[in-house]
Amino acid sequence: MIFFLILSALLPQQVLIATSRGQVHVPVSVERGAAAVAAPLLAGPLGLSTTLEGVSVRVSLAGRDFEFDLGVPYVRSHGIVYPLVGAPYVARDTLFLPLQWLSGHVPRLLATRYRWDAAGARLEEVGPHPLTGLMQAHTVVVDPGHGGVDPGNPGLHIPGGLTEKDITLSIGRLLSAELTRRGLTVVLTRSSDTLIAIEDRPLFCRSDCDLFVSIHINSMPRGRRQTTVNGVETYFLSDAKTEDQKRVAQMENDALRFETAATTEGPLAFILRDLQLNEYLRESARLAELVQGRVSGVHPGENRGVQQGPFLVLAAARRPAILVEAGFATHRGDGAFLSSSRGQRQIAAAIADGVVSYLLEFERKLAIGGPAR
Ligand SMILES: [Zn+2]
Repeated sequence: MIFFLILSALLPQQVLIATSRGQVHVPVSVERGAAAVAAPLLAGPLGLSTTLEGVSVRVSLAGRDFEFDLGVPYVRSHGIVYPLVGAPYVARDTLFLPLQWLSGHVPRLLATRYRWDAAGARLEEVGPHPLTGLMQAHTVVVDPGHGGVDPGNPGLHIPGGLTEKDITLSIGRLLSAELTRRGLTVVLTRSSDTLIAIEDRPLFCRSDCDLFVSIHINSMPRGRRQTTVNGVETYFLSDAKTEDQKRVAQMENDALRFETAATTEGPLAFILRDLQLNEYLRESARLAELVQGRVSGVHPGENRGVQQGPFLVLAAARRPAILVEAGFATHRGDGAFLSSSRGQRQIAAAIADGVVSYLLEFERKLAIGGPAR
């Protein structure tokens, strides 16, 4: 009982809806125990529309649908069910929706479109990010390749005894900073010199993630072409079509040998099974194209284009996923660029720009009613 008294004392008497259409005060009703607001009063300020058929209520707001059932404390959106403390109800021919939906689920599911200010009991419309024009919140997983006992390739032309794992970590940290500056949320699979199991890395990008970027440094095996091949290429997960693609995928999958508990099935069986599940092939290819376009623009080496290969590190990501081979440690010019702080900063900023271009396209597709993610 005391709990409910405290709760009702904390509840606002009214909420303020502040949007480009103006500001409107909407009274909060507690007639059924839990706080609720009259849906018709939200229609004007939020441009929200509602349909009521029997007990099912459908609410459309900013291109997103919310489904309720009268008397049931749940709301569904994009196939996910969210619990509520109160249920929607009809009183005096008016539909009431739980305040918790408006103050909690709306700002979270339509993040950066709306923000809830609890102290002022205000729902505010938020404009596009000033730097990128992105309307929504996005999370990017950045994966600096190798680490710990796995040095990656030894780096013939990387000075100071550094190896691939050191360069990927530097670029990964810079990329994280560049993406954060652009208003994105970043998760790094590693932020220090430690080994993360290769098949665990894509698992960082499952539910709360929009895309996955793995960073690597290429190298050529001993031979005639070892010190002449140079440049940047970006991979997405598919089967390899060329000998070069096979070589790079094999080289990167070889990190498995540093793990004590590798997958019980062979890596290729794992990838092939995953390829059949992967619905993000086309999206990953588009992300690769946009990132490759940006990075090749700042890179002193060749533009080696978008490539495809069976990478274990990309399998099992349930979002668009790419692997950037940012240059060849076996090439003198690439090695100098990759180990310079100017080069690393340029690569990181270019990848970030490519990621933002992709997300802008993604938001435009959502806005014109494309597939929900
Ligand atoms: Zn690598």
